Amino acid sequence: MSEKTPAFPGLLRALIARPSVSSCDPSLDLSNLDVIHLLAEWLENLGFSIAIHKVAAGKANLLARLGGGGTAGEGLVLSGHTDTVPFDEGQWSCDPFGGIERDGRLYGLGSCDMKAFFALAIEAVRSFDAKSIRRPLTILATADEESTMAGAKYLVAHDLKPGRYAIIGEPTGLKPIRMHKGVMMESIRVLGHAGHSSDPSLGANAIEGMGRILNELLAWRTELQAKHRNPMFKIDVPTLNLGAIRGGDNPNRICGHCEMLIDIRPLPGMDLFELRQAMGERLAVALADYPKLRVEAHPLHDGVPAFESPADSAMVRACEAFSGVESGAVAFGTEAPFLSSLGLDTIVLGAGNIEQAHQPDEYLPMEHITPMVNILKGLIGRFCVEDTGKRHG
Ligand SMILES: [Zn+2]
Repeated sequence: MSEKTPAFPGLLRALIARPSVSSCDPSLDLSNLDVIHLLAEWLENLGFSIAIHKVAAGKANLLARLGGGGTAGEGLVLSGHTDTVPFDEGQWSCDPFGGIERDGRLYGLGSCDMKAFFALAIEAVRSFDAKSIRRPLTILATADEESTMAGAKYLVAHDLKPGRYAIIGEPTGLKPIRMHKGVMMESIRVLGHAGHSSDPSLGANAIEGMGRILNELLAWRTELQAKHRNPMFKIDVPTLNLGAIRGGDNPNRICGHCEMLIDIRPLPGMDLFELRQAMGERLAVALADYPKLRVEAHPLHDGVPAFESPADSAMVRACEAFSGVESGAVAFGTEAPFLSSLGLDTIVLGAGNIEQAHQPDEYLPMEHITPMVNILKGLIGRFCVEDTGKRHG
């Protein structure tokens, strides 16, 4: 019955072959259960005990644990998300689910972001004798990172602390990442009254109100960027992007409704709740002279907090030692702030480059495989095998 656990890249090919797109667009959203069950089968073959947590209909997290006598909240977690983003039909030069290997690259949807991590983790794990694992080694595979972060949020909501140390294998080009920005996506709506364009008193123009709001948001952005700066980031200030705007229908009608979508990327130390409050105040100020217009703002999702691990944490130091690369910061969001909020010493480090993620012909550079497996072996040795007395001071 049980599928034998193949070698890399067979592992990766099998994962790529099982579609697990997650999307806020229900017509594109798929279940991740095929990937979860395949990982469960492979890991069970390697002696892991398996727990599958249902996150939503057709969506689950996997917590697979090896060794350590079942001590909860201890040991090392190798963490990744099982889902991928949707793909552009017709823009790939090969089958997105084919796992084709060519010119030192393995192509496929999720090859670098981030199904490869599970294959690499299994490669690393199987070089250890299960009996040598003193502290639990946990493989965590989550649902819906690319859409709602529901899998990571499930852990926080249920206070499931899967270990003490965590590495999230997002594609960082083998560089340890101890900081990233947060993500907030908000919808701002201005509600006015439609009316005949020939007489402005017949209505209240939502586009004019949105114009005021737009200027107020740009002024707020300038203030935020003057106040917050972090040289660890390539874009060293928080950003605010005006992403979409739509309103009205006819030139001869006063516009009764206008909506704008914005994206804010806060730096570590900037609180999402406080930012939303400050934004609400600015929106009210912008429309103070327009009593007939109403503005409402709501988040498109809860948002992802910024993430920061101390430069001298055990995980940061171990990852710098095993990779030979100094830790840094990235601009993309991950599940790290959720694991961090559960008290895990967390880092983001993985094979593949973010430049190849979320786009046609996504691939994993094969030259990343051996160094990443070696980093993972080093971490397993350090946090699960070595005598605690010798380390962890
Ligand atoms: Zn990812």
